[in-house]
Amino acid sequence: ASTGLVALLGYPVEHSLSPLMQNAAFAATGLDLVYLAFAVTPSGLPAALAGLKALGFRGANITVPHKEAVIKYLDAIDPAAARIGAVNTIVNNDGRLTGYNTDASGFLRSLQEAGFNPAGKKAVILGAGGAARAVAFAVAGAGCAGLTIANRTLERAGHLAAALAGLSPPVKACTLEEEELRPRVEEADLVVNATSAGMAPMEGAVPLPAAWLNAGQWVYDLVYNPLETKLLREARQRGCRVISGLGMLLYQGAAAFTLWTGKAAPVEVMGEVLRKAIQDSHAA
Ligand code: NDP
Repeated sequence: ASTGLVALLGYPVEHSLSPLMQNAAFAATGLDLVYLAFAVTPSGLPAALAGLKALGFRGANITVPHKEAVIKYLDAIDPAAARIGAVNTIVNNDGRLTGYNTDASGFLRSLQEAGFNPAGKKAVILGAGGAARAVAFAVAGAGCAGLTIANRTLERAGHLAAALAGLSPPVKACTLEEEELRPRVEEADLVVNATSAGMAPMEGAVPLPAAWLNAGQWVYDLVYNPLETKLLREARQRGCRVISGLGMLLYQGAAAFTLWTGKAAPVEVMGEVLRKAIQDSHAA
C-alpha cells in the first residue's frame, strides 16, 4: 500500500508543533503515514477539503481560523463536536469526511490526569475564543457546579455563555475588570487561562493579577510556550496547583492519532518531542 497522508489545514501553520508530534508518533508506531501542514486561506478551504477527498488523505487536523467554518463542508459530525460548534479533526472514510473535536476531550484528559475532576467544582475561564469554547464545553459537560466566562470583550463572553445554556448551571459572563472578576476568581476551584496573554514573545503578560489567586486552587494555562508562563509561575509561588497547556496539546493530538489509525497513541514519545521543541525554541 502507498504511504498514507494526514493534513493540517490552517492559516498560518508554520509555527504548529503538530507535524513534529504526529510524524514522531507515526514513526514510533511503525505506521506508513506522513503528516503535512498546508496554509489554507478561508476562501481556499472548500477546495482544500475536496482535495483531501480527491487525494485520498486519511484525515486532517483543522486549526485557526477554520475550526467553525469547516463544519458546513463535512459529510458528518460527531455529536460532541456539533454541540461545541467547532471541529479540529477530520477522518476521511472513502470520501466521506466526518468531523470531531479532540480539543475538548484532550483538555479534560489532561485535567483528570493532573488529578482534578471538575464535577461539582466552580470554574472560571478567561477568554472567549475558540480554545475557551472547547474548554467551557468540556468543563460544563463534566458537571461543574458553577462557571464564569471572563473576556476582554464582554460581548464575546456573552455569546459563549448563551451557547452553554442548558448544558451547565447558569453561566456568568463578565469582563477581566477587578470589580467583576476578582470575587469569582477568589471562590473558584479552577481558573483556566484560555486567552493568548502570556504566550511567547509576550511572556511578560498575565491575564489577571496573581494576587487574586489562593493556595489550593488549580490554575491551568492553555498557553504552552513557554512551558511555564508567568501566570503559572506566580500561581505556583502562591501555593496553587498548576497545569501547563502542553497536556491539552498532547492529548488532542493523541485522540486525533487514534481516530486516524485506530491505534493507541504513543503519548510519551509525543510529549517528549513537544517538550524538547519548546525548550529548544527558547535556547535558540
Ligand atoms: P482566539 O484568537 O480565538 O481567542 C483569543 C482570546 O484571547 C480572546 O478571548 C481574546 O479576547 C483574548 N486575548 C488576546 N489577547 C489578550 C490580551 N492581551 N489580554 C486579554 N485577553 C486577550 O484564540 P484561541 O482561542 O484559539 O487561543 C487562545 C490561546 O490558547 C492561545 O494562546 C493558544 O495558543 C492557546 N491554545 C492552546 C491549546 C492547547 O492545546 N494547549 C489549544 C488551542 C489554543 P478578545 O475576545 O477580547 O479579543
